[in-house]
Amino acid sequence: MRLLLAEDESALADWLVRALAQSGFQVDWVADGRLVRRALRATRYDALILDLGLPGLAGEEVLLSLREDEDPVPILILTARDTLAQRVATLKAGADDFLAKPFEVEELEARLQALIRRSKGREVSKFSCGRLAYDASTKRFELGHEVFTLTAREHALLRTLILAGGEPLSKRELLERVFTGDAEVHAQAVEVLIHRLRKRLLHTGTQIATLRGLGYVLEAVP
Ligand code: CA
Repeated sequence: MRLLLAEDESALADWLVRALAQSGFQVDWVADGRLVRRALRATRYDALILDLGLPGLAGEEVLLSLREDEDPVPILILTARDTLAQRVATLKAGADDFLAKPFEVEELEARLQALIRRSKGREVSKFSCGRLAYDASTKRFELGHEVFTLTAREHALLRTLILAGGEPLSKRELLERVFTGDAEVHAQAVEVLIHRLRKRLLHTGTQIATLRGLGYVLEAVP
């Protein structure tokens, strides 16, 4: 895994680069806030470790500009000024985690691993709508933290809708995707299945809406 470290204390940076390398992280180091974005543009990093007190451009400014650009890199903030107000401010500004100096390298590693795992999960395998989520790696639906069980057909329909990510799907499209290879099925079967699924989704905060002329869409209950 490849990390970018933005830290101006060279003794700390040296130690971190070596310690993290022993755990299999490849770490590139910049000591000036102005160099962070350039480095992120040139290389794809799994996470950024960002010191708040940086010369050139303060860590807070770096954080804000990255999130303004919707750069998805997970960011762990390092700071010597550990106050609750600052934690809240940096997390609100879009940081994913926060660690106060001095810290143990084991804790930094554990947090980085969790951060990277979460961000990868977001990227590839989690689709959500309201409280309902579909995990493509386990092929299961979850409601809050509970597994949400469905029949095979309901599951196929709901999966098709949640993967559409808010785009409406026509009855014909649903028919083709849910009843694949079943030539005898009529459009009515989709309606019956939608009806059943709507009942299952009652009180979940998620619903199947009908958009006239466009089809069906899964949405969070307003
Ligand atoms: Ca510093």
